Amino acid sequence: MRVVTAREVGFCFGVKRAIHLTQQVLTENDEAFILGDLIHNKAATSGLEARGLRKVEHLSECRPGAPMVVRAHGLPAEQLQAAREAGLAVVDATCPIVRKAQEAAQKLEARGCQVVVVGDANHPEIKGILGNLKDPGCHLVVDSPEEVREARRERRLSRRVGVVFQTTHSVEQCRDIIAELMEVAREVQIINTICRPVRHRQLDAARLASQVDVMLVVGSAKSANTRELTNLMRRHNPNTLQIENAEGLDPGRFTGAETVGIASGLSTPEGIVADVHQRLLDAFPPGRSGGCDCE
Ligand code: SF4
Repeated sequence: MRVVTAREVGFCFGVKRAIHLTQQVLTENDEAFILGDLIHNKAATSGLEARGLRKVEHLSECRPGAPMVVRAHGLPAEQLQAAREAGLAVVDATCPIVRKAQEAAQKLEARGCQVVVVGDANHPEIKGILGNLKDPGCHLVVDSPEEVREARRERRLSRRVGVVFQTTHSVEQCRDIIAELMEVAREVQIINTICRPVRHRQLDAARLASQVDVMLVVGSAKSANTRELTNLMRRHNPNTLQIENAEGLDPGRFTGAETVGIASGLSTPEGIVADVHQRLLDAFPPGRSGGCDCE
């Protein structure tokens, strides 16, 4: 079996930066708080938790005066202000590309557009984008052409819209939504907020997926960008599997496979990907395809 790992795997630069800032804080402090998960990967966060990172759901759970890390997805302005007023030392690890997406939405709002955010309404990045607008209630989040049609039917869609995208969405995912908006709105202003490094990764992984018998995506089932990458890979290779780590490898799924490609979510440590690669090579040494007598 030939196993090929995509050119870029492991953490994206925004995640690396957030982890680095958190490590710095924990070098200078015994504990630091964070609202929600720093990233959706248990293997990566458990080390930081052991050093004193405390995940909380509400600001009231933080010790006054302690540092509070803002994760790479960002936070609504109201929550940031509340954290400062509560006397927390805010360490802003919002990814600069996410910050640009927040600013793009603000620019469209200032131009008088109804902001339409294409993304998952429950994702913290989307809550952060909306939560940094002057009037979040006037704007809209959609994630499918059906949701655009529904908003139109319910008269929630304005004739003049400004569109931004969840940074980790793929162009493929957004295309049909934009087409639908063009049908129903008089004016559509678009600021492309899709993260370029992620786009390059997606294109590279898609190329690989179309050349191999089985495509593996390594990452947590809780990670939205990993699930999105898996869906994208399935468009290029229906024989795509998602696993969290090498423990999830089921040799039976590689029956007859001569080539396997590996890509990863943005919050998957590189070491986990290397481990999956190595386990596959151990189970199916080069020159021997899947489905043999490995355990
Ligand atoms: S995917 Fe892009 S925008 Fe999101 S954290 Fe990583 S680098 Fe930043």
